[in-house]
Amino acid sequence: MSILEELIERSGNKCELCTSTDNLQVYEVPPVSISGIDSSLLACGVCVDQIENPDNTDPNHWRCLNDSMWSEFDTVKVVAWRMLSRLKGEGWPKDLLDMIYLDDEALKFAKATGEGLAEADKIIHRDVNGVILENGDSVVLIKDLKIKGSSQVAKQGTAVRRISLDRENAEFIEGKVGPTMTVIITKYVKKL
Ligand SMILES: [Zn+2]
Repeated sequence: MSILEELIERSGNKCELCTSTDNLQVYEVPPVSISGIDSSLLACGVCVDQIENPDNTDPNHWRCLNDSMWSEFDTVKVVAWRMLSRLKGEGWPKDLLDMIYLDDEALKFAKATGEGLAEADKIIHRDVNGVILENGDSVVLIKDLKIKGSSQVAKQGTAVRRISLDRENAEFIEGKVGPTMTVIITKYVKKL
């Protein structure tokens, strides 16, 4: 029996996450170190698309995890855990995360892609208006900036191109003002 056939049989030919019967496919749960049925599940096109493209994630679609997180199969629980972690900012997924049961091995597998961690540890830099800043963005100073270690002052209105984010601290970015690389406080810049 092929993996697809095995999965169809165990799932009753429906998506193991949301029970849809549309566009069913084998989803290999990354990282695929163990191959075969122990690292796969049967999922519909909508679920696979949203798992693989975080930008397409529709939180309401994942209300289905309320039921599927109780699956007897680890891969289903692992994907449920990852999606709940991704969505925990919505509130309700947090309650489900508190209830979901994964043994140590399954939890290690669930965390292997960094899905939950990424959210919790992510440091987000925002400009004075709360706009998210990313590496490579350009900003403009909204306040005169004294350049550390020199008598130079960068005037309000100076553009700083290709900033880089301080990975440890959400308050700071770095950028070149004239020839000098300097630390700039995020609340004194506006994204261009
Ligand atoms: Zn589905």
